[in-house]
Amino acid sequence: MPLVSRGSEHMTADVAVIGGGPAGLVAAIALAAAGVDTLIVAPQPQDDQRTTALLAGSVTALSTLGVWQACLPHAAPLTTLRIVDDTRRLLRAPEVSFAAAEIGLDAFGYNIENRHLLAALAAHAAKLKIARVNAATAAIASDAAGVTIEIPEGAARARLAIGADGQRSICRAAAGIGTSRHTYPQTALTLNLAHDRPHHGTATELHTETGPFTLVPLPGRRSSLVCVVEPERAAALAAMRDDELAAEIERRAHSLFGKMSVEPGRGVFPLAVETAHSFARARIALVGEAAHVVPPIGAQGLNLGLRDAATVAELVAEAHRNGGDVGARNVLARYDVQRRADAMSRRIAVDALNRSLLTDFLPVQGLRGLSLLLVDRIGPLRRALMREGVAPAASQPRLMRGEMV
Ligand SMILES: Cc1cc2nc3c(=O)[nH]c(=O)nc-3n(C[C@H](O)[C@H](O)[C@H](O)COP(=O)(O)OP(=O)(O)OC[C@H]3O[C@@H](n4cnc5c(N)ncnc54)[C@H](O)[C@@H]3O)c2cc1C
Repeated sequence: MPLVSRGSEHMTADVAVIGGGPAGLVAAIALAAAGVDTLIVAPQPQDDQRTTALLAGSVTALSTLGVWQACLPHAAPLTTLRIVDDTRRLLRAPEVSFAAAEIGLDAFGYNIENRHLLAALAAHAAKLKIARVNAATAAIASDAAGVTIEIPEGAARARLAIGADGQRSICRAAAGIGTSRHTYPQTALTLNLAHDRPHHGTATELHTETGPFTLVPLPGRRSSLVCVVEPERAAALAAMRDDELAAEIERRAHSLFGKMSVEPGRGVFPLAVETAHSFARARIALVGEAAHVVPPIGAQGLNLGLRDAATVAELVAEAHRNGGDVGARNVLARYDVQRRADAMSRRIAVDALNRSLLTDFLPVQGLRGLSLLLVDRIGPLRRALMREGVAPAASQPRLMRGEMV
């Protein structure tokens, strides 16, 4: 491989993963474990007090990679999901409960703070001795033989770049890939809290006129909150004193878990839905939010991102084992085809649910209510929906089935 470097350090790898969020680190670990020479280019993570509800397939993938043991002490099992229509509208949906036991699972998945997940992944990447440049790259360019990534030491060369650099991906721009994006008039306020009464492993999603208000279990008598409201309201809530905010959340939660106290750290996330027109082009493959963003409803975002990471690692490892070019056009084309349907179907479902909450159009509210009524009353439909939510039939990469790539 030709080496391009302006400084004293020369770095080459088969694959360079750009971005050290969970999707990038999972891709890097899976590739390194398969013997692919991998380099991570990523700055140190910023504070993120969000949590992620990892569904069963993602937990299986992390277990298979040997990362889950370090996550488990910080994770809470999700055994039941309750959806409650908390709107004051004329047509309201019935309350629906989904129990993991109904589809033969102990739990749908586990909720974990992102900082613990990232720490476990970074420690495992270090244990596998994956080379890491602790900096953001300012530029990336591809040519017929590979990609050149600007790093502080000069430049690194790889056959393939995995763009795991989030919503404002420079990898996506470098590959010339556009997106379709819609911004919602909604912002999510996130924080973690302690409460008097136990949650019993139940995640509760209250559907309000401004979006979902979701409490997801954390270990002990703690939960994470995602509260979706208008942007001005989110700013006002985020500016409240701890005691004021705790009282306001308790009011919105109808005192479900008794008295609440908020933990330090609040996040504010404007909501959007965005999908890349292609998932791979010009020796650059996109994973995670570089490829797709969905609003935080039904815990789909990172679970999709981890399926991207598992799929790209599987295809690249196969090309590597066969002595082929890991960034070849046919590898990228297969990746694009394998991820598109999964990402699009989740986008459509989450977008439709979110819009149905925001609309004042009575027939749409009626349709949402009817759909939930059918789900509540028809057992096989409910169970099919649960299975599809946890493990999509059309997309089960090897890692999600408990096999190495
Ligand atoms: C409120 C909220 C709640 C959510 N809850 C859930 C949930 O319960 N379950 C779920 O599955 N999903 C959830 N999501 C979605 C989930 O948080 C995202 O899908 C996930 O964080 C995306 O991970 P990622 O690795 O793709 O990107 P990121 O975590 O954004 O990581 C991108 C990384 O790239 C790095 N980077 C950026 N530019 C460069 C560069 N030029 N060079 C090198 N590195 C760069 C950044 O520093 C960052 O570390 C939620 C999202 C929100 C907003």
